[in-house]
Amino acid sequence: MTLDDDARAELRALDAANGLRVPRIVDGRQGPRVTLDGVEVTSFASNDYLALAGDRRLADAAAAAAEEHGTGVGASRLIVGNHRRHVGLERAIADWMRCDGVRLFANGYAANVGVLSALAGPDDVVISDELDHASIIDGCRLSRATIVVAKHRDVAAVERALVEYRGRRCFVVSESLFSMDGDLADVRALAELCKRHDAAFVLDEAHALGARGPEGRGVAAAAGIVPDVLVGTCGKALGSFGAFVATTRAVADWLWNRARPFVFSTGLPPMVTAATEAAIAIVRGSEGDDRRRVLSDHARRFRMRITSAGGAPDSAIAPLVIGDDREVMHWTGRLLEQRVFVQGIRPPTVPEGTARLRVSVSAGHRTEDIEQVADLLHDAVRR
Ligand code: PMP
Repeated sequence: MTLDDDARAELRALDAANGLRVPRIVDGRQGPRVTLDGVEVTSFASNDYLALAGDRRLADAAAAAAEEHGTGVGASRLIVGNHRRHVGLERAIADWMRCDGVRLFANGYAANVGVLSALAGPDDVVISDELDHASIIDGCRLSRATIVVAKHRDVAAVERALVEYRGRRCFVVSESLFSMDGDLADVRALAELCKRHDAAFVLDEAHALGARGPEGRGVAAAAGIVPDVLVGTCGKALGSFGAFVATTRAVADWLWNRARPFVFSTGLPPMVTAATEAAIAIVRGSEGDDRRRVLSDHARRFRMRITSAGGAPDSAIAPLVIGDDREVMHWTGRLLEQRVFVQGIRPPTVPEGTARLRVSVSAGHRTEDIEQVADLLHDAVRR
């Protein structure tokens, strides 16, 4: 048996279990309308919640930065890749997020892995929600800490773990807006628990940043709490790429020294950080408020039509849990015939038996788009 034979056998097994993923090809800009395998479709599948990924202002900022600074920085920021534009973006984010320390990462995956593996160690305990993202799970594993997986949004379970491990250094880690369920963590209760038990609160705001909260600062800001470590991504509502950690000065400096995905990886291209800076200026201002209002109106309208959709009432992520993997992909295909794209999500991205259609709305959709997808999905939920 060669490695290639092994891979073929694995692929056949995946296919037989309806788990094979085949790529679709996008042309042109990302947005509420996108060209997918050569066909223009209305897309309810991206995380581009504010429809900024295709925005001319971000592209212009990136092009101007590429003209001035070239494309790559050629090295890790610890070597000779620490560009003035990195420092400028970290300052802009600190001002926006009202914190003292910010560290950029190549992406959200690297940020979660870097944060957890650098801050937690074998003597520590990490308490993680069972639906936390794969990057959080991998960060927990790399930390070699004792890992406690708490039931989804179960604050009492988190407290029990904090009591059980009293005397050890504890971290509580959660998404603020869950990526596949669209529901919210009770961040106020978690922050209060962490305070009472001297634990550190790590909050991943990947899907909330830009889309929720005052100035688009996320769920924590909306709740009036400040986690010890907040992870934000720039590739979703900000329409750019990369990620950051918003924290204290000392923690940010610690990450500079110890977060391996940061230390041992090339710095972000200035053209990317320039697009992110342009996005933040939009997201913070009145245009950001307007887009967030449209987004939550769309989310509410969709749930008025599809009452079985999951998630918070105003959440841009609306899952329709179907259960069976094959049936979910059948519906994705049926909708595509009508030039509407809704991604079917199967295990291992979601737990076995909970395959779902994940509808994500965008501020760039028209009201008619929301009505259309709801009409098409009526049959799927009526099965
Ligand atoms: N955290 C969560 C909750 C996510 O959903 C994702 C991406 N799907 C990430 C982190 C990773 O972010 P990125 O795509 O920037 O790597």
